Amino acid sequence: MKEQLEEIRRRAMSELGDNADEAQVDAVRVRVLGRSGELTEIMRRMREVPNEERPAIGQLINQIKREVEARVEELSEKLKAAALDKSLNEKRIDVTLPGMRIARGRIHPITDIMEQMLQIFESLGFEVEMTQDIEDDFHNFEALNFKEHHPARDMQDTFYVEGGMLLRTHTSNGQIRVMEKRRPPLAIVCPGKCYRRDDLSVRASPMFTQIEGFMVDKIGRVTMAHLKGVLTQFAQAFFGATAIRFRASYFPFTEPSAELDMHCLLCDGAGCPVCKHSGWTEVLGCGMIHPNVLRAVGCDPAEYQGFAFGIGVERTGLLKLGVDDMRLFFENDLRFLAQFPALSGGVR
Ligand SMILES: [Zn+2]
Repeated sequence: MKEQLEEIRRRAMSELGDNADEAQVDAVRVRVLGRSGELTEIMRRMREVPNEERPAIGQLINQIKREVEARVEELSEKLKAAALDKSLNEKRIDVTLPGMRIARGRIHPITDIMEQMLQIFESLGFEVEMTQDIEDDFHNFEALNFKEHHPARDMQDTFYVEGGMLLRTHTSNGQIRVMEKRRPPLAIVCPGKCYRRDDLSVRASPMFTQIEGFMVDKIGRVTMAHLKGVLTQFAQAFFGATAIRFRASYFPFTEPSAELDMHCLLCDGAGCPVCKHSGWTEVLGCGMIHPNVLRAVGCDPAEYQGFAFGIGVERTGLLKLGVDDMRLFFENDLRFLAQFPALSGGVR
């Protein structure tokens, strides 16, 4: 048994040479010192050893164990230090190389256009008020003079959600929400998202952005002339000097109603495929607030009068940025989005 132990020692120490790698060191450790290793195996067989020899054998086992342990420890330390050195050398940083550029973000062109529009209206004395996207039938339709069977209430046009609520189809609910809690004189713009059951296409999207604006005061103080003045100012500030016209139209919540057209920016009124050769493009809808809308919020139409307008931000953005497909704004391709100059100088 003594010879066997000497053999274990000789073999272990020869394998734990100075050039042993991590795997070799580990293999020796497991084979000699492991739970079912060679030394453990010998200890199990101690009862075969005559009594008088046992102390010597026991001592020898402990000695070999300590020796192998010490050598394994020594080599492991050495290998660890070598690995660290190697990784430091390989990953040496060259401080003279140019640094990594961090891409600079910017606001989305649609948000940017909305901000610019809001800034123009603020400069004309309008306040910005946010209202809600999830609305009830009263604030989205009834109070805005949509009759009970108006086609806009159809399930095919409107997203209905649980509990008789719906996703607002326009930001005109802002008129009702604001006038319910505040009395005229009021000059307010309500920006926000709107939702309709349209497929995403060149000119339409199931979610889009609008700015609703309205001004209400005592009769005679806010007339159709003020409406024209404010929107002419807006068109000039936003699009630059261009020919505009007001064309009679129809909306349930305004009477009379009009649409603001401007000279097509592509052909400047000469006529081209984009403006269907008319020379004009629609910009927004507007009109004098219908007396029924004023009544719905407890304003006496014999005492108060006002105008309202609604601007489609994406549609106006298409015109302003010369983009011909609305889907590009929603696909979030940074190569597209990064093309446009910042207009507003940031978000409030
Ligand atoms: Zn044109």
